[in-house]
Amino acid sequence: ELTVEKAITWLTLFHDKIQANKAYLSELDTPIGDGDHGNNMARGMTAVMASLADKTPDTLQDVFKQTAMALISKVGGASGPLYGTAFLEMAKSAATTSDLSVLLASGLAGIEKRGGAVLGDKTMLDVWVPVLPEIAAGSLTAIEIDEFVMATAPLVAKKGRASYLGERSKDHIDPGSQSSGYLFESLLEAIA
Ligand code: ADP
Ligand code: MG
Ligand code: MG
Repeated sequence: ELTVEKAITWLTLFHDKIQANKAYLSELDTPIGDGDHGNNMARGMTAVMASLADKTPDTLQDVFKQTAMALISKVGGASGPLYGTAFLEMAKSAATTSDLSVLLASGLAGIEKRGGAVLGDKTMLDVWVPVLPEIAAGSLTAIEIDEFVMATAPLVAKKGRASYLGERSKDHIDPGSQSSGYLFESLLEAIA
C-alpha cells in the first residue's frame, strides 16, 4: 500500500539521487547519446519538487499527476514523455488502487505503449520489467537493481538515440536504465 507520504518520500529521494548523480547520468549518455540525460532528469526533478512544494497534494493521484506534468513539461528528450507517461498512468490507476504493484504495472504499460520498446532493447524497460515481479514478491534488493542496470551494458540498442550506433552501442550502460535504477532504489528506501 502506497500512501501520499511514502510517495512524496519516494520522489524526494529520487530527486536527491538524480541531483547527486547528474554528471554520471550525462556521462553515460555521452558515448551512446547526446550527453544530456542527467541534465534532463535533474531539471525535471527540480520541477517536480517545486510543484509538490507549491501545491501540497491531497491524494496519491495528485502526487503522480503533478509529477507527470512537471516531467513532461521540463525533461524533454525521449525520457521526459516516457517517465511522464509512466506517472500519468500511475495517476489514473491511483484513482482506484493504492497497491504499489498495480500502480507500477500501469506505469510500465504506459512506457511500453508510448515508446514501443520491448525487453532487451537496451532501454529503461530493461530495469522496469525485471524489477516489477520482485517488488510484487517483496524481494527486491538494491544489489539486484544494480545487476539489472549493469546487464544493459552488453545489449545492442534497438530504440532511442543509442540505436543509431547499432553494434557500437555495446559495452555501455543505458542511461535511462541507470536513472530508473535510482527510481527503484529510492522506492525501496521509501517503503522500508
Ligand atoms: P534523448 O535520447 O532524447 O536525449 P534522454 O537522454 O533524456 O533523451 O533519455 C535517453 C533514455 O531514454 C535512454 O537511455 C533509454 O533508457 C530511454 N529511451 C529512449 N527511447 C526509449 C523507448 N522507445 N522506450 C523506452 N525507453 C527509451
Ligand atoms: Mg540524451
Ligand atoms: Mg537529448
